[in-house]
Amino acid sequence: AVMAAQKSVILYPSLGVGHLNPMVELAKLFLRRGLAVVIAVVDSPDKDSVSADAIARLAAANPDIAFRLLPVPSCGREDYPHAVMRIMDVMRVANPALREFLMGALPDVEALVLDMFCADALDVAAELGIPSYFFFASALSYLAIMLRLPEYYPTVPSSFKDMPETALHFPGVPPIRALDMAATLQDRDSDMAKARLAQCTRMLEARGILVNSFDWLESRALEALRCGLCTPGRSTPPVHCIGPLVLPGNTGGISERHACLEWLDTQPDRSVVFLSFGSLGRFSTAQLREMARGLENSGQRFLWVVRNPPEHQSNSAEPDLGSLLPEGFLERTRERGFVVKNWAPQSEVLRHPSIGGFATHCGWNSALEGIASGVPMICWPLYAEQRMNKVLMVEEMKVGVAMEGYEEELVKAEEVETKVRLVMASDEGEELRQKVMVAKEMAVDALKTGASSDVAFDEFLTDLQKNRTSTEKLAT
Ligand code: UDP
Repeated sequence: AVMAAQKSVILYPSLGVGHLNPMVELAKLFLRRGLAVVIAVVDSPDKDSVSADAIARLAAANPDIAFRLLPVPSCGREDYPHAVMRIMDVMRVANPALREFLMGALPDVEALVLDMFCADALDVAAELGIPSYFFFASALSYLAIMLRLPEYYPTVPSSFKDMPETALHFPGVPPIRALDMAATLQDRDSDMAKARLAQCTRMLEARGILVNSFDWLESRALEALRCGLCTPGRSTPPVHCIGPLVLPGNTGGISERHACLEWLDTQPDRSVVFLSFGSLGRFSTAQLREMARGLENSGQRFLWVVRNPPEHQSNSAEPDLGSLLPEGFLERTRERGFVVKNWAPQSEVLRHPSIGGFATHCGWNSALEGIASGVPMICWPLYAEQRMNKVLMVEEMKVGVAMEGYEEELVKAEEVETKVRLVMASDEGEELRQKVMVAKEMAVDALKTGASSDVAFDEFLTDLQKNRTSTEKLAT
């Protein structure tokens, strides 16, 4: 038989590095199987778009992946109540550019893989007859909740914001207090919540959903999804847990090793607690001072990523540590603490043998990186779906403890001290570490040839193949 020209799978992330990076890791899975991928990246003048420079750097670091920039006009509005709303609007405005690109590439397009904020692209895919899938780069349990929510929300007595302490019950996940649901979902009458629910309903139109998780970690949610408990009366597309896909431990390459890694080299094994709060996490000056006092009083070694407080205009400006942190703090902790300004090579840090604990904002990538490194976590959720991730990490996966008071204005120094000591220097912390080490081993196993995540990706490829065979038949 004559081999047809190789078709490409088009990966289509929404805005922001947080959505782009997991797609890059997904692209590597395709490449490893000899399949061609193109990552189509929206280049919009609106906020949150990843800069062309950053894309060029990513492309240089990943020469086998084709990146394609789609120039998109501004959506012409500034006053978004929430960043997610803007992202969804930009993605809608991007549809014609996506359509044009796909039309040009058409006979060689195998499928489209969308992230969760790209549901509108389903219209383009349907028009052009391209099979579409989603890549859900958050917890599988979150997917189970989001697919259930459009039916469930209208049946509860009020908006979540008006019943904050009420425990919500979803199939396959632990009870979640209404206040721990995502901020965008708090008011069910808001355009924001309505848009998100509509988006979730549309996910059911896909041929399948790839998830950055692994079966063992979220087996109850997987069961609930597979049994149709999340979408009563409608069928759930096949769900494939193909992770954990995390940034490789060593991204340094030819560039210099970060000074914090050199410092970690000089510290005893498992002796350092690492504090890092995602790409956007920022704290008030008052909160930074409580954290500093807590760390100092804990007596533990620490590596802490500090940013300017939100009231600072520029979020990339270097923080002035001397004025932000308590007087004398840096001198007094010089022997056992290291403060990094703005950004640390987190994935590499977490894999360092000196790290013994991780205070995290519970972004899903961070949670997976913590698990993949076998590091027990202190969960301090800040934005997006992180409060819910915290519930999952503490109650379901048992890989962390909660930083109490996260939903209040200020977490007190005493609480910071207590939780740092618990994780770093107590029997309870040691038990937690054992549990995370098991999760780490299960994560490594899941990715092996013939294991669950590998098989799940094959099942997805088989589905792709099936579609190809049926369209080829049509063509002849
Ligand atoms: N990250 C990092 N250094 C930092 C902060 C974050 O390398 O100082 C990386 C982190 O390793 C993770 C990503 O940025 O891969 C953050 O993703 P996550 O889903 O945890 O949170 P988000 O930033 O999307 O809220």
